[in-house]
Amino acid sequence: MGLEFTTSRAADAIAWARKFSLFSYPFVTACCGMEFMSTAAPKYDIARFGAEFPRFSPRQADLMLIVGTVTEKMGPILSRVYAQMCEPKWVIAFGVCACTGGFYQNYGTMPGCDQVIPVDVYIPGCPPRPEQVLDGLMLLQEKIQKHQSNYQLRVLSDAP
Ligand code: SF4
Repeated sequence: MGLEFTTSRAADAIAWARKFSLFSYPFVTACCGMEFMSTAAPKYDIARFGAEFPRFSPRQADLMLIVGTVTEKMGPILSRVYAQMCEPKWVIAFGVCACTGGFYQNYGTMPGCDQVIPVDVYIPGCPPRPEQVLDGLMLLQEKIQKHQSNYQLRVLSDAP
């Protein structure tokens, strides 16, 4: 491919491999799901980024995509599903509802899924365009290459 690199650190090589082999768990709750399907379909082809295989068990996934509105009642379930995922793990909030609650300003809607789990990348939009989603995915790949994960930050900040 005309692309060559060398590294003397095993961790860098592992991070490079990880960012191109993401196994996503789509936590789809609402209308953003349609745009998620569009992103995964051949036209936008998320497979180019090594993230084409959605896993429907959190135990087989390292990337959670929260796609749509999250209600307060879903909070404990979301937290439990997240706890079952492999480590290291990452989270993308897909759409303004997942990021902030969107235009649902009421007692039943959670004002952003980061109230219960750490989020690495926020993708705004109602719904976000597939190009935006791919941009968010590339941002996450950069974070993985730099060994950044909000899960690890939260574990460190929770440590006594
Ligand atoms: S951001 Fe818009 S499209 Fe996505 S779940 Fe909320 S209301 Fe639906």
